[in-house]
Amino acid sequence: MALIQAGTFRSDAGALFGPVPRLLWDRWVTDEIDPENRLLQALNCLLIETPGGRVLVETGIGDRVDDKTRAMRGYEGSWIVPALADAGFDAASVDVVAMSHLHFDHAGGLLAADGSKAFPRARIVAQRAEWEIALGDNPRLVASYVQPELELVRDWGAEGWADGERELLPGVSVVPTGGHSAGHQAVVVRAPGSAPVAFFGDLCMRPWSANPRWVTAFDDFPLTSVEVKASLFAQAADEGWTIVLSHEVRQPIGRLVRDRDRFTWDPL
Ligand SMILES: [Zn+2]
Repeated sequence: MALIQAGTFRSDAGALFGPVPRLLWDRWVTDEIDPENRLLQALNCLLIETPGGRVLVETGIGDRVDDKTRAMRGYEGSWIVPALADAGFDAASVDVVAMSHLHFDHAGGLLAADGSKAFPRARIVAQRAEWEIALGDNPRLVASYVQPELELVRDWGAEGWADGERELLPGVSVVPTGGHSAGHQAVVVRAPGSAPVAFFGDLCMRPWSANPRWVTAFDDFPLTSVEVKASLFAQAADEGWTIVLSHEVRQPIGRLVRDRDRFTWDPL
């Protein structure tokens, strides 16, 4: 398994902490905030090797963004295809692309700049509920999706729709969570003889996400996020799962540890 960083971008710092006052979150991030009050965020993707094939989790922002959007998002670095190549993986060798959800910073890398499929052999797996909300018309919800781009891959995506929990290849499963977005899902990897490895998507993006009640302003269904985080994190902590954070720059791999009524992040 390899962690692939498909560049970095910047998000408004306050929005990452939702209703939590800066007085409480400031100590986590003081040295990272830029003059526009944004935090540096990694676009973490996972390449999972199994005997049955290769699964890529997430695709980042991609290569189909104009200079204005690039500047607005503070987007820098290699997009997923060259980032995979740098790590020794050919995009054409990917069998399955699983995305936690379809927000711009997770589903942007499905197409190359010329509009061809970035992963020509792959099946794309996201929840059907996520596609429906992403291509819907709720003005509050669609703001985080790039609908014209998703329209281009709609048919490709429909071939891999998941309705609920599904095993993609032996040992690699997606588990619907909701919360951050309507059809958000986690990816869990199980291999005999070792503890599971999980990618909880944007329910667990940074070390401070370990507190189930610290939910971003980008979460569309925050009460679901709190509830699902509490139960998923309890299982992960009690069973010693290895967790990969979706947007952490420095210490993206670690474990969740119980701490009173919450959890703390224990980086590996
Ligand atoms: Zn994200």
